[in-house]
Amino acid sequence: MMFEGLGTQAISLLQTRMRCLRARPLKHPSITMQISETIADIRQSRWANPNLSWGLVPTMGFLHAGHLSLVERARQENDRVGVSIFVNPTQFNEAKDLEVYPRDMARDLTLLKEAGVDLVWTPEPETVYPPNYQTHVEVEEVTQLLEGAARPGHFRGVTTVVAKLFNVFQPNRAYFGQKDAQQVAVIKQMVRDLNVNLDVVVCPIARDHDGLALSSRNSNLSPEAREQATCLYRALTAAQTTFAQGERNAEAIHLTIIDLIASTPLARLDYVSVANPVTLIELETITDQALLSMAVFVDNTRLIDNMIIGVVRK
Ligand code: AMP
Repeated sequence: MMFEGLGTQAISLLQTRMRCLRARPLKHPSITMQISETIADIRQSRWANPNLSWGLVPTMGFLHAGHLSLVERARQENDRVGVSIFVNPTQFNEAKDLEVYPRDMARDLTLLKEAGVDLVWTPEPETVYPPNYQTHVEVEEVTQLLEGAARPGHFRGVTTVVAKLFNVFQPNRAYFGQKDAQQVAVIKQMVRDLNVNLDVVVCPIARDHDGLALSSRNSNLSPEAREQATCLYRALTAAQTTFAQGERNAEAIHLTIIDLIASTPLARLDYVSVANPVTLIELETITDQALLSMAVFVDNTRLIDNMIIGVVRK
């Protein structure tokens, strides 16, 4: 497993922890992990001791080591950790996609308990969106591009549910993965614009041994498709190499990615982008830093991946 942007010591610690999670039992599992469906229960636990800091990790479940790396980071930086497991129907723009989204609540809860989580919210859709629900949060420009263009309404669903999660948990910090780079840009914009009183912490992409970014959707891949799904990471690293060799023209970087995906039989490129990492506006020339991102159908499964190239900023 690879974790971009982490030092070798941190990677090794995390890998050891993942092995522990598989081997069980952990030294310090949460013996009191509370699982609640109601908002009142979550609020009561959150505010039982107002002096404790809370980290929140929002998820849609079917957890993997990428999710657990966010939990681990939240544990390091907070007194208490809350996780939400909610497959949010409003961020799926295709009913079929929602239907086939993988779920395994029992396994998820076991993993979270072993990871030392304190509180898990597993709401029913009616709890999040009761009858006569009317309010949505919409971030304007940064949601219109890339994933937003390919999946109309997706980010309106994301920002609405994340705003609700923030209101329910009222965490000090919220943890998101760089895997969903546009989601990070959108959430940061929402937090800035609405003066939400918390820190957004972005965690590096956790990858499988061959570079495939971990994703709940990977479980939908056939063995052959799983093998070819490495084309996303191979395309990103090829583009990174092109950049390292001095190429600064975004179109040339696009072509490196397009060629590699085109040479993969089961893959079909949905989009490729070389953009400003904050605004997501496409670049013609890379002068400073760029977010390379892409969506690719491998067989029928749509995968996304990204990499930041250029000047490294903390
Ligand atoms: P999801 O359950 O797909 O909504 O993901 C929940 C959180 O986990 C989001 O902030 C994702 O960006 C993050 N995440 C998903 N996959 C990875 C990964 N491979 N590495 C790091 N974070 C991830």
